[in-house]
Amino acid sequence: MQSVEVVEEPHVLILIAMEAEAAPLLSKLDLPQIPLDVCEWHPFLAYSGKYKDLRVSIVTNGKSKCKEGEGEPVDNVGTTPAALATFVAINSLKPSLIINAGTAGGFRSKGAEIGDTYISTILRHHDRRITIPGWDNYAKGHHESHSCNRLANDLGYKIGIVTTGNSLDANDTDREIMKVNEASVKDMEAAAIAWVAEQATIPFFALKCVTDIVDGEHPTHEEFLANLGTAAASLQTSLISTIEYLSEKNGKHENL
Ligand code: SAH
Repeated sequence: MQSVEVVEEPHVLILIAMEAEAAPLLSKLDLPQIPLDVCEWHPFLAYSGKYKDLRVSIVTNGKSKCKEGEGEPVDNVGTTPAALATFVAINSLKPSLIINAGTAGGFRSKGAEIGDTYISTILRHHDRRITIPGWDNYAKGHHESHSCNRLANDLGYKIGIVTTGNSLDANDTDREIMKVNEASVKDMEAAAIAWVAEQATIPFFALKCVTDIVDGEHPTHEEFLANLGTAAASLQTSLISTIEYLSEKNGKHENL
């Protein structure tokens, strides 16, 4: 009997933690909202459709559940929602390529400037410490990104190591580990998403726009809030260029 080769349609999944980060891209692409029907209780929001001939889905992490007296709900940032959103989205949408897009802190010592777009090379953690041989490497993490040197070069993006932790600021120990990690960019989701993509053997990379300078003179939260709007707009421009680039390659992730 002749075997029939089943060719899966390329499908790019873009995971974005915060609503404000995703808003400019969502309004530009105008994709319809769809259910992620893996279970009923997750907080994630999904939008899916075609950009030119390429299937594109965007998933955001939704808002936190606040009990009385805890104030207004905020975006579900950090590694726990990021990993779960990736699991739910993979199972529901079956993507062929995953991108984690968002804002990030950049390291001046590595040449980062506000507004830069970075593509990840390796993803690591800086707030996990297990000082037992073997486990120390596990804690640090080492997730290879899908190689995108051509894409980065053609679109004028920088490339570098992304380090992930669950805090917006950094204490002295975080700073020491981030230095050892040789990080160019600091965020709160990418390494967690990379781990899930690695388990599922789906190619993955992070695309991050710099909102604040980690080794600069301004407090991170002030700089982050002051630059969030501009960075979200530049994130939208960079993501559209990336989607265009992928669509010209018919969504194929080989030779990026
Ligand atoms: N205080 C912010 C909360 C956002 S937390 C607010 O009020 O809106 C920061 C988010 O932006 C995370 O999703 C993280 O991935 C990214 N981010 C931007 N700059 C960062 C930095 N310097 N360190 C860690 N994450 C950063």
